[in-house]
Amino acid sequence: MLYEELVDVYEKIGSTTRRLEKEEIIANFLKTIKHKSPETTYDVTLLLQGKIFPPWSDKEMGVSTQLIIKALSKMLGENTKSIENKLASVGDMGEITEELVSNNKQVTFFKVPLTITKVINNLRKTESITGSNSQNKKLNLILELYSSASPLEAKYITRTITEKLRIGVGEGTLVDAISDAYGIDKEIIDRAYMLSNDLGEVATRAQESIGAVKELSITPGKPIKPMLAQLSPGIRESIEEMGEVVCETKYDGIRVQIHKIGDEIKIFTRRLENVTQALPEIVEYIREALPDEDYIIEGEVIATRDNKPISFQYILQRVKRKYDVEKMREKIPLKIFLFDVLYYKEPVAEQPIGQRRQLLEEIVHTSDDVELSTMKVVSSDNVGDAEELFNWSIDNGHEGIMFKDVSSPYSPGKRGKNMLKFKPVRETLDCVITGGLYGKGKRAKFFGSYLLSLLDSQTGEYKTLVHAATGMDDEMLASLTDRMQQYILSTNEQIVTFKPAVILEVAYSEIVESNEYEAGYSLRFPAIKRVRDDIGLDQVDTLDKLKQMIDLQNN
Ligand code: AMP
Repeated sequence: MLYEELVDVYEKIGSTTRRLEKEEIIANFLKTIKHKSPETTYDVTLLLQGKIFPPWSDKEMGVSTQLIIKALSKMLGENTKSIENKLASVGDMGEITEELVSNNKQVTFFKVPLTITKVINNLRKTESITGSNSQNKKLNLILELYSSASPLEAKYITRTITEKLRIGVGEGTLVDAISDAYGIDKEIIDRAYMLSNDLGEVATRAQESIGAVKELSITPGKPIKPMLAQLSPGIRESIEEMGEVVCETKYDGIRVQIHKIGDEIKIFTRRLENVTQALPEIVEYIREALPDEDYIIEGEVIATRDNKPISFQYILQRVKRKYDVEKMREKIPLKIFLFDVLYYKEPVAEQPIGQRRQLLEEIVHTSDDVELSTMKVVSSDNVGDAEELFNWSIDNGHEGIMFKDVSSPYSPGKRGKNMLKFKPVRETLDCVITGGLYGKGKRAKFFGSYLLSLLDSQTGEYKTLVHAATGMDDEMLASLTDRMQQYILSTNEQIVTFKPAVILEVAYSEIVESNEYEAGYSLRFPAIKRVRDDIGLDQVDTLDKLKQMIDLQNN
């Protein structure tokens, strides 16, 4: 099939801004090629998205704009600097290519008409070229295309290489067009696309039969777009809306999708980049932890120090690393918390999360390096359990909690209502310690919780606001207990009052009305962040500031 036919379709699509019209043009085109080979339909569907490899593939073309400029310069005898200048003023390399090729005065002999297969194959070949002279070899491959191309064809070859088609076609339009062209329900096409992450495959199957589309499913080795989470408005609200909920700790690391096919294990990020090489120990841990079957599992990799989570920044250093991986492995140890399974011997992504979690528990042999996310099944009868898990999670250095509707399937790429994250934006207040409570059990010798107060600037007094217990590690617990001894004013069994002297920064999720505290308000989920020795008592936050924060919160 001639490339010029596709270029004609590109032009038509680009000339309208109406989505429905675009969809119709694509559908009609797909109908006209129904009798062609599955390979042609596959390639056309990819090229309509401006791609030459499917989204699940980690292959990349590896042709830079610089190389396009070099090729054009060589072919047309135009100097590279002048092409670069044009690019700086026009911005679209495709348009520049079209202009240059149409101004071409050189006579080309033996111009062969370009076919779709020729274009896509030449571009695909650039991916596998490495080593010495690779730039020249790539240059020759694209030069061959430009030499046979009409100005319009050359424009779209460039746009395909730069991965910017500029014809305004999104995945949704293509899904609709495929559904229309082959007369198959949109939901069926959409499901097949979500699970295969390959519209080319969906279209070729649609060309074959509806049954073939329905058979398409998730496959180890082909990463799919991760299911995304919406923000939860609050713990109780979310649980009441969802009914029965899998409630889990939200870890602060990077999400990984791990595929095992035969002997090979591959790790992909949420943007479907293959990061297997950068995370060798995760490959080892996972191989050890699961049976020798094909599977796809999901989890969060976090960086640790003394087996405690450390900032997300560290894990980024690991994932981006191409060299000295072994050295980095020692410097920034990693562990993984698994929270989902999408394939185990067979596709399971469409089973409810409650069931998938059970399967995960059956197949994973946990260790210090591979754990399952901490989880509780909650409903409106035990909202307290979710609040407890939230506190525990924050206390242990994690980010918050997730809610997953127990009966929901995995919906690739969708940010739906079946998975919510509760990760409050945590404002902070600087409060002074005016009281405390001795802890229980192991913490009996320490002040396990502090009564925190704000300044009333009208009277100069301190007004109580909240009891804060979470956020302190063992070291802080001991050192602060020590330090507070000198400020004790009175003790009544476990309850102590202090002279205002030490200021704590406390994070919270929400300010709520309260008649328990003198401020008339209190904080939900307070967590102690640090001692603020850098400010004086006159800088403790005031009730006025609290009012401002309430206004902000309610807006
Ligand atoms: P978002 O990226 O904003 O959609 O928030 C969800 C993210 O939380 C996921 O992409 C994961 O990286 C991360 N995450 C951490 N812990 C979990 C968990 N237990 N279940 C699902 N996602 C989790």
